[in-house]
Amino acid sequence: MAPASKAAPLLMTHSAHPGHVLKLFAGSSPFQCDGCRQYSDDERWYRCEPCDYDLHVCCALLRTYLTHPLFPGRIFTFLHRPPSAPGYSCRFCDGCGDLVLGFVYHNAERQLDLHPQCASLPTVLAGEERMPILSEEAPVRGNCGLCGQGKNGRRGRFWCYRFNYADGEPAYVHVACLMELRDQGTLQSAPSRRSGRFLRFCKIALTVARVAHAVTTMDPVGFVTAVAGHP
Ligand SMILES: [Zn+2]
Ligand SMILES: [Zn+2]
Ligand SMILES: [Zn+2]
Ligand SMILES: [Zn+2]
Repeated sequence: MAPASKAAPLLMTHSAHPGHVLKLFAGSSPFQCDGCRQYSDDERWYRCEPCDYDLHVCCALLRTYLTHPLFPGRIFTFLHRPPSAPGYSCRFCDGCGDLVLGFVYHNAERQLDLHPQCASLPTVLAGEERMPILSEEAPVRGNCGLCGQGKNGRRGRFWCYRFNYADGEPAYVHVACLMELRDQGTLQSAPSRRSGRFLRFCKIALTVARVAHAVTTMDPVGFVTAVAGHP
């Protein structure tokens, strides 16, 4: 497994936890990020031990401004919490479609929001068959390999990874479904009707996503060369 970008510093300070030094921590226990409020099974994260304060690497190494290849020309600004605006009782990530509860990259012009984890997803999962690519919405044909819903389903207009099997058959999986699978902690809970090759794809995609979060410098373009290790 080769990290795609430079290593995260061992110690750092963060505006969301002033006055304390956060230490890069390695472990295998799931945690909830105190920045974005999402759960994670990343194997490296930043932690203030006395305060039990945890941050994803991607949430710790935030950028003030961010651009993303799937939103060309848009500039996102980092905010500690989603802005309140008339007509918005809660906000959803324009990447995965799930609720935004904490740290967010926000574009005021188009009222777009991205979880830091979603903003740091690799745009290409190099190393897997036919290199799955991050796409802004589900294709017209087919269904997500995990939830089974298609274009008109609840996640149809959010990000997915599209790919082709070796025989050319197209397939895709919603980013949110992949994250849910990760949060459940095991691929065993995936629907049993899914084929072995599909589950193998999911396993690799999860590994790549985890590595991206763990090494991110918040530059999605930089992840194009991320290399997946085959199990
Ligand atoms: Zn986070
Ligand atoms: Zn602290
Ligand atoms: Zn998201
Ligand atoms: Zn799905």
